[in-house]
Amino acid sequence: MTDSAEGSAEASAYPLAGPREVRAWLWTVATTNRAAFAAMLTLFGLATGAGLVGPWVLGELVESVRRGAATTAVDLLALLFVGVLLVQAALRAWARFVAAVFGERLLAKAREDLVHHAVELPLDTVETAGTGELLGRATSDVDKLDEGLRQAAPEIVIASVMVLLTAVAMVITSPLLALGALVSVPLLVVLTRWYRPRAVPVYERTLASWAKVHASAHETVVGGRTVEALGLGGRRRTHHDAAMRTAVAGERRSGQLWGVFLAGLDAAALLPIAVLLLFGAWAYQAGLVGIGEVTAMVLYAGALTEPINEVLGWMDELQIGHAALRRVLGVGKVPPDTGDPSVVPAGRRIELRGVRFGYRAGRDVLHGIDLAIEFGERIAVVGPSGAGKSTLGRLLAGINPPDRGEVLVGGVPISALPLERRRREVVLVTQEQHVFTGTLRDNLTLPRSASDEELHDALRAAGASDWALRLPDGLDTRLGSEGVPVPPAIVQQLALARLVLADPHTLVLDEATSMVDPTVSRGLERSLAAVLDGRTVVAIAHQLHAARDADRVIVMDEGRIVEQGPHDELMAAGGPYAELYNTWDAGTDTVTLR
Ligand code: ATP
Repeated sequence: MTDSAEGSAEASAYPLAGPREVRAWLWTVATTNRAAFAAMLTLFGLATGAGLVGPWVLGELVESVRRGAATTAVDLLALLFVGVLLVQAALRAWARFVAAVFGERLLAKAREDLVHHAVELPLDTVETAGTGELLGRATSDVDKLDEGLRQAAPEIVIASVMVLLTAVAMVITSPLLALGALVSVPLLVVLTRWYRPRAVPVYERTLASWAKVHASAHETVVGGRTVEALGLGGRRRTHHDAAMRTAVAGERRSGQLWGVFLAGLDAAALLPIAVLLLFGAWAYQAGLVGIGEVTAMVLYAGALTEPINEVLGWMDELQIGHAALRRVLGVGKVPPDTGDPSVVPAGRRIELRGVRFGYRAGRDVLHGIDLAIEFGERIAVVGPSGAGKSTLGRLLAGINPPDRGEVLVGGVPISALPLERRRREVVLVTQEQHVFTGTLRDNLTLPRSASDEELHDALRAAGASDWALRLPDGLDTRLGSEGVPVPPAIVQQLALARLVLADPHTLVLDEATSMVDPTVSRGLERSLAAVLDGRTVVAIAHQLHAARDADRVIVMDEGRIVEQGPHDELMAAGGPYAELYNTWDAGTDTVTLR
């Protein structure tokens, strides 16, 4: 939580997909679901066609009453009108159902793509951006997309087909009166041109602000202990309030824009009806049109109001959905951390050459590290807080690539290896160990799939065999919040079992159950020793007793290696290590730093 406590909610390492990429994605989804897409459009067309017969029948009804037609003919027309309404309602419901299924497929694809890309994201990108940002895109943005797709898209299709066919019917009924209905077209064009360019950036900003609100809340919860320990509650609240205020201001602004737009839409809907009534009365008196035509035209104009408002109104939802889709697809634009399968290490030697690295541009944390680690060596990295020990560990494991220089394993850059291969070479073990919701088997097979026998062997090596055998459903027992609670020591042992299965030749232990930590139970200590056996171990020794037994101690200060060698040699030399060691209080396990 150190740096991310305040900072990462501000940054977004994830780009937005461009409008062309969104179109290409939608096109791919539409064409791969061609049958459902065609069925949806056909049903909407039929439903709308049925809707157009209604006003025509009503026009005929008025005309036949005016002509004094027989009652049976009038009754038949009235019956036909009711029948048309029923068919229209049935077709609409069916079309909506098909559209909902289509929308769900689209949404499922968006979610699957997001998850697929998210798991391939470089870890340093996820950490820089903060998990909240990714969480925001995977939750609130997908929800917005859901609303846009499930509701807006079908409504817009229905309404657009309706507008189109109604316009055609109006032209056929009376080309002269149809001219009168065009009166609102310029108004609609001006309104849309005013509204769109203003609303779209506001939506995009508002979605980004909500993501920041989520990120802020998420980080406060995740780092709850740090927040409490350092008394950061007030600062976190201020931070959260600021994020919230930006989001609320965005919502208010989009509400204002929408209000103006809606008023304009109402005016544009009423105008053609008024014009048609006046124009129709004049044309009727002039003998240019019949009363039935005027009736049908006014009904058509009235019928147009709703779909036009729907199209433009739902466009708003669709635009929010579009902005959300750009954010969701944007995650896929980050180059995945897939590595190059043709790169194969030759050997297990690790070498750092002129390594420089900084979390932020221009602020190097490591200033040119040269280091060679032979297979099987036991290394302890020591140094004052902030010296760059953990950062060195991250680079050794290929989590962050160096800005300059090289981190080589078996002569090839570790960050060029495919992720799975990388984890078979070097694994960084930290104190943070998770038990994921799922079965014991799920928890163990995270590094790779394995047979039951291999799983039991790994549990035995980690010393968790007895515990596992007592589980009600063995390897298929559900663990975590929804299942069997896992005691802290077992959490560590499960992490060790995962390591056994991943079987890397080098382990970087950062604040992990340190090699000879006296606070760790004897059993766990033995398991750890068994797991470390036959591997290279780089222990980032925040506690100095680990350094005494190492083959070589590496002393870091301010991002540089200032001294290295075995404990006894360094003590005899009386340099920085001896100074550090002499100020270490083994009783409280603390080091007094300069
Ligand atoms: P400690 O023993 O306190 O963990 P360390 O020697 O392991 O310290 P690092 O954690 O590597 O030191 O930190 C080295 C420097 O890099 C520090 O100035 C730290 O603030 C900075 N730093 C560490 N992690 C990040 C990060 N994720 N983003 C930005 N700066 C970071």
